[in-house]
Amino acid sequence: MKFYLETYGCQMNIYDSEIICSILLKSGFIKTSNLKKADIILLNTCSIREKPEKKIFNRLIKIKCFKKKKKQLKLGIVGCLATHYKKKLFEKLKFLDLIVGPDSYKQLPEIINKLKNNKKEIDVSLAKKERYTNIIPNGVRHGLSAFISIMRGCDNLCTFCIVPYTRGREKSRNPNSILKECKLLYKKGYKEIILLGQNVDAYFWKKMKFFQLLELIAKTVPLMRIRFLTSYPSNITKNLLKVVKKYTNICKHFHLPLQSGSTRILSLMRRKYTVEEFLLIIKRIKKIIPDCSISSDIMTGFCTETQADHRETIRIMNLIKFNFSFMFKYSSRQGTYAYRKLKDNVPNSLKISRLNEIIRLQKSHSFYRLKQNIGTIQEVLIEGISKQDEKYYYGRNYKNDIIVFTKNKSKIGSYKKVKILKSTFTTLIGEIIP
Ligand code: SAM
Repeated sequence: MKFYLETYGCQMNIYDSEIICSILLKSGFIKTSNLKKADIILLNTCSIREKPEKKIFNRLIKIKCFKKKKKQLKLGIVGCLATHYKKKLFEKLKFLDLIVGPDSYKQLPEIINKLKNNKKEIDVSLAKKERYTNIIPNGVRHGLSAFISIMRGCDNLCTFCIVPYTRGREKSRNPNSILKECKLLYKKGYKEIILLGQNVDAYFWKKMKFFQLLELIAKTVPLMRIRFLTSYPSNITKNLLKVVKKYTNICKHFHLPLQSGSTRILSLMRRKYTVEEFLLIIKRIKKIIPDCSISSDIMTGFCTETQADHRETIRIMNLIKFNFSFMFKYSSRQGTYAYRKLKDNVPNSLKISRLNEIIRLQKSHSFYRLKQNIGTIQEVLIEGISKQDEKYYYGRNYKNDIIVFTKNKSKIGSYKKVKILKSTFTTLIGEIIP
């Protein structure tokens, strides 16, 4: 039986798709990248915001046509949308055959086989323990960089966020299986590992905390670059900063979602820090690792956000000047505390204009941060040939900046010293030092 898998959403979903591929391939299913040849089409979905969700529903309507042409074709939704809407999806989308949540992928082969009786199948149970410990992901890895999930779910219960309901509570993965996967990736020729979790620094296995796991990984695969995301701001500890500073193979980049620059809004969001505390965290990081990059997630138009709150966000962004940010307009998600108890009272047009303002501001900050590299020499991992011009390579430094430089005989996948000559708004331009 041939399966076709399409992935939406965050890195965690990309990783989960690898898990799904691994499980299905092991059970004798065959992967196809041609939708028309598939016997079952699976969409690994995201429900964090309204926009990606709409995109998935539109896609489903298109895929429905294939079912008309090929009667035995099965269609399934897996991932966050499955746990968000549960069996209501069957009512909404009559042509759907299967609904499977992020903690039930091990059951997929069995569930798919049951579909042969033309019955609809659903499993949206959430687990207390990590269920994929011994599954080595397979299938959709890209380039030189590989994701490794170290923990799943979230216990923070931010009032805007659907994650604790769609992915369940925090569960960390056995460090032995993480280390095994790191070694395997190294043997396969990967150069970089990105450790994934909703809050990587909430990792906890028996007595092991995140900084200890990170140190173990850095020692186990010293020739691989290690990145991690996402960090919850108030979980950044001195011990973690010491480990990041000590090991040259750990990248000097922190992804710290600020969400809002107004302490009043942060408190409504049930974030565990004030704006002043966030600034102190940044100060502590920069004191220990001055040449690091800090990126963020910022939202506009959360419930009751006033122009004064928005100005505060602008003020804090100007103070910190993040290297880059992912920016969103707030969308109310059914099931969250904010959906039930707070007023989503900022007009959509205002959410958008505030969003556009912070996007413009962030662009200028990203440019400012990039320009700070001009004249420095950076170690760059050559990741490939530039899509714009075949005469150039592109790669990234340890801060996660993209650097483009003239191609020579150096191999893709090797590390080279590159002198930074200039910067565009998004990319550094350099030359390899012989
Ligand atoms: N663990 C992260 C944290 O510390 O909040 C959350 C990761 S979430 C998958 C990615 C980002 O999506 C969040 O940081 C937030 O900015 C954004 N987001 C989450 N819920 C949202 C909502 N209801 N509307 C708009 N953006 C949202």
